[in-house]
Amino acid sequence: MNIQNYINGEFVNPIQDNWLVNYNPSIGEIYGQIPNSTQGDVALAVEFAEKAFPKWSQTSLEERSKILLKIADLIEENLENLAKAESVDNGKPISLAKTVDIPRAATNFRFFAHAITQFASESHETVGENAINYTLRQPIGIVGCISPWNLPLYLFTWKIVPAVAAGNCVIAKPSEITPMTAYLLGEICTKAGLPNGVLNIVHGLGNQVGEAIVSHPKIKAISFTGGTKTGAQIAKIAAPMFKKLSLELGGKNPNIIFADCDYEKMLATTVRSSFSNQGQICLCGSRILVEEKIYEKFKKDFIKKVSELKVGNPADESTDIGALVSKEHLEKVKSYIDIAEIENGKILFGGEKVVVDNCENGYYLQPTIIEVVDNQCRLNQEEIFGPIVTLMSFKNDEDGLSLANDTKYGLSATLWTNNLNRTMHFSQQLKVGIVWVNTWMLRDLRTPFGGMKDSGIGREGGFEALRFFTEAKNVCIKSLP
Ligand code: NAD
Repeated sequence: MNIQNYINGEFVNPIQDNWLVNYNPSIGEIYGQIPNSTQGDVALAVEFAEKAFPKWSQTSLEERSKILLKIADLIEENLENLAKAESVDNGKPISLAKTVDIPRAATNFRFFAHAITQFASESHETVGENAINYTLRQPIGIVGCISPWNLPLYLFTWKIVPAVAAGNCVIAKPSEITPMTAYLLGEICTKAGLPNGVLNIVHGLGNQVGEAIVSHPKIKAISFTGGTKTGAQIAKIAAPMFKKLSLELGGKNPNIIFADCDYEKMLATTVRSSFSNQGQICLCGSRILVEEKIYEKFKKDFIKKVSELKVGNPADESTDIGALVSKEHLEKVKSYIDIAEIENGKILFGGEKVVVDNCENGYYLQPTIIEVVDNQCRLNQEEIFGPIVTLMSFKNDEDGLSLANDTKYGLSATLWTNNLNRTMHFSQQLKVGIVWVNTWMLRDLRTPFGGMKDSGIGREGGFEALRFFTEAKNVCIKSLP
């Protein structure tokens, strides 16, 4: 299936008529073409966004909210189709697309449709001066949203919805590896009555059309989710242009397990936090740190549970682990299995490609568990972003905490314990943006979302996102006697 850019509410070919191919990772075959857009396509989208902005920014909150709610309804009505498209494009199990990716995209619309009606700003009475200050929170104008391939529609909508809700017009680019559901969303937006030019979707390569978005002088803010290296490149271009920047980047998240935890819940959740979406979630717990006392038991039980996961065709409802997103990514992830050998990591389970019936050329890898002894090894320091986790033991709280913090990343951490003092101490000391205690990926969309250190700058979610997509302006009014 061939897709087109969505500019000013219409589907159009890229100006230069250049195209890229799109692969179905479950069978390793090309199944469509996508625009290989360039600067000209971004410039065209910006022209229409600029025209749409005055009216959209003055559209009442109720009206904006109504349109966003309508889009959420239409996503739900089209759940089966969208989930299938996501699964084919990305390789993720259809069950995951149906229960997580697509419902969450609808929730993003619904959440920000409500949030915008509750978004308020402050006022300050300047006592003694007979003056009042109040803050206007005005839409920025035209903003850029760039998203990755791992949770395509989920993360695409996580950005564009608060931007649009706050009254901006958007130039958005999904990953060129998984453009399909963003394309399908265009049609839904038009059907729901989103005015032309408010959302423009331009497809193509990151270093081409992505950079064209980042460097366009009329695009005043960039919300980006993706790799840390790409984030640095974007910051290099955007910073001297004084653009607002939100960067949600890579992670190497610790999963810290204490002997006093609820063992069965921990075990089941740890399997999920390790291998959901083939381990391709920025929040996956890729470093499993286990208290010495229960290390051997955990190792045995974890291997058993992981060995029961079914690697298979993503279209099959019973599949737990589908295909990795691309051939290049499979090779990158697999290279860490070779690195394990060099670093004396012990492969406890997995490590091999899987050949799936009728999908012989698909990009499948066994869920892989590697035991390591030194946290400084590359396996524990570099983001792999695939179905590979490492296991390591620790002696006590101090040791566990220091291992957990010992990476350049700081996105999230999961802690398993029933000890309140330990919970509070770790929550305070962990250098990450999100701490989960006795759970994983439980998301309340009102909470701030983002990372520390090389995991990024800024926070998304709830009012944080609405603050990002607006400019604060202080107005000071003095009453004259
Ligand atoms: P990526 O950085 O390669 O690409 C992300 C997006 O940026 C794509 O749309 C891509 O086309 C675009 N891009 C690439 N180079 C660009 C450039 N020079 N200028 C502008 N845009 C450019 O990342 P990916 O491989 O698609 O995704 C995986 C990464 O995303 C992992 O590192 C993962 O941890 C991270 N991620 C982070 C979060 C988070 O919330 N922190 C969530 C999901 C994924």
